[in-house]
Amino acid sequence: MTDYDVDLFVIGAGSGGVRAARMAAGLGVKVAIAENRHFGGTCVNVGCVPKKLFVYASHFRDDFAAAQGFGWSIADPQFNWSQLLAQKNREIDRLQGVYQDLLNNSGVLVIKGPARLVDAHTVAVGEQVYRCERILIATGGRPWVPAIPGREWVATSNEMFALDKLPERLLIVGGGYIAVEFAGIMHGLGVKTTLCYRGNQLLRGFDDDIRAFIAQEMRKKGIDIRLNTQISGIEKTDQGLSARTGHEQSITADLILYATGRKPNTADLGLESLGVALDVNGAIKVNQHYQTNIPSIYALGDVTNRFNLTPVATAEAMALVNRLYTDQATPVDYDNIPTAVFSRPNIGTVGLTEAEAGKRHPEIDIYKSVFTPMKHTLSGLGEKSLMKMVVDRGSGKVLGVHMVGADAGEIIQGMAIAIRAGATKATFDSTIGIHPTAAEEFVTMRKPVDG
Ligand code: FAD
Ligand code: NDP
Repeated sequence: MTDYDVDLFVIGAGSGGVRAARMAAGLGVKVAIAENRHFGGTCVNVGCVPKKLFVYASHFRDDFAAAQGFGWSIADPQFNWSQLLAQKNREIDRLQGVYQDLLNNSGVLVIKGPARLVDAHTVAVGEQVYRCERILIATGGRPWVPAIPGREWVATSNEMFALDKLPERLLIVGGGYIAVEFAGIMHGLGVKTTLCYRGNQLLRGFDDDIRAFIAQEMRKKGIDIRLNTQISGIEKTDQGLSARTGHEQSITADLILYATGRKPNTADLGLESLGVALDVNGAIKVNQHYQTNIPSIYALGDVTNRFNLTPVATAEAMALVNRLYTDQATPVDYDNIPTAVFSRPNIGTVGLTEAEAGKRHPEIDIYKSVFTPMKHTLSGLGEKSLMKMVVDRGSGKVLGVHMVGADAGEIIQGMAIAIRAGATKATFDSTIGIHPTAAEEFVTMRKPVDG
């Protein structure tokens, strides 16, 4: 006999929270979930899903241009932003409903409003108080903008999904996933796009060849990428928003997007008074079982700020629920997490970069291929692809597979399975290709590059 209202109280109905709540409820656990904004969280509302819909829209620019090389004539195609926004909103509304229905139909008590911890076993939503055996914090993160003069004029990724109209000139600050993806999206939709990044190459942490290659392909399409450029302040002028750079010139734009990272949502949850340990970035610290320093309180997903990707949050949720409520262990393996950047063209990557592999393995071989994909022999776009494999010379094990090119995310998902299964270069070499595809390049790269 306990005096708990629920066994598990989940705070946040995003990717991780919804998966944990539904799964636990399916196992007969008494679950409540609180959401203070949109069901589905970041991914569904202001992340992966609307972003990918915009990416599809942006690709038509290349497709219309390429069509002429294949004999089509398309007279002056026009793009209507309001129409795309309305279509996108309709789909997101539908998905929000789906998420809410999934929760209700699983028997989860669904509560709308901001939740706050009162003590190690009590959550409050407004005036209502719930006694809980366990509490799971899955509150995600939010965009972060550095404290520069004029920061009140800038937009974050959240606002990009609800712009009244497209700007004529856009300045993007940052060189990570969101900056690179929105540069491709907005340029594809016809916006004059400039990207300023403080470092010497985009996408820190990715393989160096991939970083250089994507910058080159983006520039070829007409995106103005300025590296080693830090913005020191922003002013509103008659000509638009003017961003001061360390270089002599300012950059004037109608809209400035700051894509300078995200911070975990840990404020206003009552964590400090309870003594829940946070790291320097405000992320909740957890052990390998997603447990905080207070045994009844757990956390996962972006609020723990480790691998901020939807499939990681859902895998963590499944691992936690299995551990707490079944005798099955499904721990998350954080090695070889595949990821894609939905830039134009796409990036897909899994495993070690050349630099990382060089530090961990005494001898490595690099296989690399830069080529014109068949479509672009006639498209006139001049787009090229890069494929790269990093191999441990001693064992022949494939350590990393990296790609820039159409559908890289789709292709690398399959490569990730091979790497997880421990495939060697010989396994790749003995695999029959599918012809004619770009992906067959991965099974036909015979000679390592001279190292
Ligand atoms: P979230 O999905 O952020 O959910 C947290 C929820 O908690 C939110 O709904 C929030 O409203 C709610 N909440 C917060 N505080 C409270 C409170 N006090 N009470 C009640 N509710 C609360 N990942 C990919 O894998 N692929 C992609 O292509 C991709 N694209 C992205 C594009 C963008 C622009 C962004 C911003 C992110 C993208 N991500 C992508 C990352 C992905 O969205 C996140 O990793 C994922 O959503 C994390 O899930 P989560 O459950 O931890 O948090
Ligand atoms: P990222 O961490 O990917 O990139 C942040 C960028 O901002 C980096 O280039 C960083 O530079 C730069 N930056 C940080 N601080 C400053 C500053 N003070 N001044 C100027 N530049 C600065 O964050 P994002 O916001 O792009 O995305 C957040 C996360 O969301 C991603 O890391 C990813 O986990 C997830 N996501 C996943 C996507 C996908 O799977 N396709 C798509 C979008 C987001 P530096 O590298 O020098 O530190």
